[in-house]
Amino acid sequence: MTATRKPLEKYRRIVIKIGSALLVDRKTGLKKQWLDGMCADIATLKARGVDVLVVSSGAIALGRSVLDLPSGALKLEESQAAAAVGQIALARAWSESLSNDDIVAGQILLTLGDTEERRRYLNARATISQLLKIGAVPIINENDTVATSEIRYGDNDRLAARVATMTGADLLVLLSDIDGLYTAPPHLDPDARFLETIAAITPEIEAMAGGAASELSRGGMRTKIDAGKIATAAGCAMIIASGKTERPLQALVEGARSSWFAPSASPVTARKTWIAGQLLPAGSITIDTGAENALGSGKSLLPAGVRQVIGSFSRGDTIAIIGSEGREIARGLAGYDADEARQIAGRKSAEIAAILGYAGRAAMVHRDDMVMTAARRQAESERSDAHA
Ligand code: GLU
Repeated sequence: MTATRKPLEKYRRIVIKIGSALLVDRKTGLKKQWLDGMCADIATLKARGVDVLVVSSGAIALGRSVLDLPSGALKLEESQAAAAVGQIALARAWSESLSNDDIVAGQILLTLGDTEERRRYLNARATISQLLKIGAVPIINENDTVATSEIRYGDNDRLAARVATMTGADLLVLLSDIDGLYTAPPHLDPDARFLETIAAITPEIEAMAGGAASELSRGGMRTKIDAGKIATAAGCAMIIASGKTERPLQALVEGARSSWFAPSASPVTARKTWIAGQLLPAGSITIDTGAENALGSGKSLLPAGVRQVIGSFSRGDTIAIIGSEGREIARGLAGYDADEARQIAGRKSAEIAAILGYAGRAAMVHRDDMVMTAARRQAESERSDAHA
């Protein structure tokens, strides 16, 4: 079946995420020929004026192959050592292959903190923009040698989505050994249907993502859908496609099968994108239906609508806002520390001063510091369309 052609040259800035299994063969190591083809595709896009950023996995897989480590799970320090060895080889391979087309590569290694902490986020963003300005291709990976399990992305799907929103990209392409999203895992369910277009990531779409991951990479469909949520909310489209052919981007242009996730029609601002994309909210707040409706019509969250406060967070931390059905409906910056939030939960704003001993803010989460989840925004806009 031939799907719709994807005119990639129409995009201004594209982030391409490449899974480990595409770049590294368990037995023979780096797939040089594949990489050369990929770089030729990148050169074609750049010649048409598109900025290209690469999020390349493969450090651990390549390090494993260089060190000849046995297959099976690695301990954290083993995988960090493998990443240290593999990342040098990976960056050199990219740099050499891109230089065939006179393109300069710049290596960027990020940790979770570099994208989650606002100051570091702005810093990383400035470096990447400068690389793009001089015409280089940033080759990005997680800094696996220092990231520990609690404070790491662990998968490059979400890292790539974060890079896409950070740099204002308009397209994210996830290349791996999976050609797109199916209604159910195709190897388990013969009735699984392939989805070519996904207009919005609804809870039904989320339920379709199984948890499977291949041995070489950590991400499965789950992390790809999470990446889609981050990217599309910021107005960046996403494509999931197979990278198993020799010239995967050219194949997409020529109409290879892929799943296309539409960008949100009402993308949130850069600051709100940053809030929405936070991977580790410091806590959460459960609200009642009245507050849920108020949030849906663009109002701030007042203490009166708060039913429960979970976790320990400080004022200014990102927290998840949970609706009456137990689903996350928004994220925002807390107006109060968790302890204070507990004291004023369910109380009128006018009572705050008497309870806390000082006149705090009227809102628990101000609407300027809050962003509704993409699925929720879609539901609201369908509701207002129906009323129009
Ligand atoms: N950062 C890991 C590596 O380069 C890959 C993570 C992933 O597979 O998504 O080996």
